[in-house]
Amino acid sequence: MHIDVHAHFFNTRYLPIAGVGRKSRGLPHALARLIAIAIRGVTADDGSLERDGSWFAREIADSGFATHQSRESEPAELSPEGAIARFTAEIPPWLLRSADFDDVVREATGARGLLLAATAEPAAAGESDRRRWLRSYLQADRSLFLDVAAPAHVDDAGEPGVGGYLAFLYNLACREKTLADRHRQNSPGVELFVHVMMDMEWPYEDAPAYDYPRAIRRVRTMCRQSGGRVVPFVAFDAYRPDSLQLISRALLRQSFLGVKFYAPSGYRPDSNADAVRARDDVSPDELDRRCAAMIEFCADRDIPIMAHCTPQGMEVAPKRHSGFNADPEFWRVQLARFPKLRLCFAHAGGRSHWFGPAEPADAPPHEPWAKSIIELCTTYQNVYTDLSHMEEALDPQAGDRFAATLADDINSHASATFPLGRKVMYGSDYPMPLPGGGWPKYYQAVLRSVRDNEQLAPLVDDLFRENARAFLNLRAFLEERGDDLADEQVHTLSQFA
Ligand SMILES: [Zn+2]
Repeated sequence: MHIDVHAHFFNTRYLPIAGVGRKSRGLPHALARLIAIAIRGVTADDGSLERDGSWFAREIADSGFATHQSRESEPAELSPEGAIARFTAEIPPWLLRSADFDDVVREATGARGLLLAATAEPAAAGESDRRRWLRSYLQADRSLFLDVAAPAHVDDAGEPGVGGYLAFLYNLACREKTLADRHRQNSPGVELFVHVMMDMEWPYEDAPAYDYPRAIRRVRTMCRQSGGRVVPFVAFDAYRPDSLQLISRALLRQSFLGVKFYAPSGYRPDSNADAVRARDDVSPDELDRRCAAMIEFCADRDIPIMAHCTPQGMEVAPKRHSGFNADPEFWRVQLARFPKLRLCFAHAGGRSHWFGPAEPADAPPHEPWAKSIIELCTTYQNVYTDLSHMEEALDPQAGDRFAATLADDINSHASATFPLGRKVMYGSDYPMPLPGGGWPKYYQAVLRSVRDNEQLAPLVDDLFRENARAFLNLRAFLEERGDDLADEQVHTLSQFA
């Protein structure tokens, strides 16, 4: 009965694809738009999430969700080169003949014309010429998109350039339930999954296919249909004017368990005058006010907040390092205001503390992040951290090193007011990109490295279940905010409460 406290089951319809391509990946605008149109076209729109019905109880093999589209029975992970090949082979003829494609050609031959001259003739003629041209244009990405290929931006997308972006998107081009089914197949001991939403429309200035209220409704339905095996966190966004209104309704009336706080989108829990921000039309004071109101709302009701806490990940302004808004030190003011704030620092501050320095040379150092997190976890009653997206753990030797570091940290904080061993939780960050073939092995790899460590072995239940039970505060959730839950959800969640 393990718990994965950090997973994502959203697809490309929940994301501002063109905006992310432009802002986070540095792609030319017309190309980012073309990719968004094409990827949305191949992402299934699962109508069953607009209706009632059950789903999770069925065996994965005959769930039926894998049959409607050949894509979903194929390997989930594509190389950047493979993703470019698939994209250019599958892009529909009407899109190749559209004004959007003409814009891509114009854009390519304009600002970056010199580089393009090396690739091919930008053909306006026939469909196959256009397809060929697009392919050579995208394949040239490592030279075309040097700004994107800088090592600082490699981590989240797995691979730099447009190929890496396409590979990332293809992983997310299937039904939400297919993502969840794949993940539970990967995680045979996990029986409760926390599905963490994202809300990126305002910072990225681009509308997802599903507007946010609709995204919330679909996630609510998905969690109902899972019979309680999937529980949702709703995403806060400081740029969205009515964010608190939307998330408070989700938390109080649509059975959402907690809140995701994503600082790399351009805000901090306070002192936003110093933050790397996403847009100028919302003042730092207003960002402070909105963040403070959300945090107070959650503190008053003992609702858990999950704060992204690694400088890696999707950044709205990678060149200005908006990922550094996620420094755990920025939570000290709010923790002083609300010492019982229920807060998880996701990703445990990034990899450098756990696996040794492997950071991009041009990034500011963040070694102390994990140390800050450990101090906050052991000082404040309800502060936790999760070990999600530790891709090095796939390598057994690195996994052993990581387990040894964790054991040391737990030992040296065993007599703290709040021992560290009761604050660390398993999470995955599925399906954010891992090295090829990583997902089927991740849960087992982390579990093995913990079990094989003499000092950690007795803590398996704590790390993989008990600490998450404490953080999620399910008993209070069921009692105080459970009105919207179906009987089956209540029954399932009661086993973890
Ligand atoms: Zn995540």
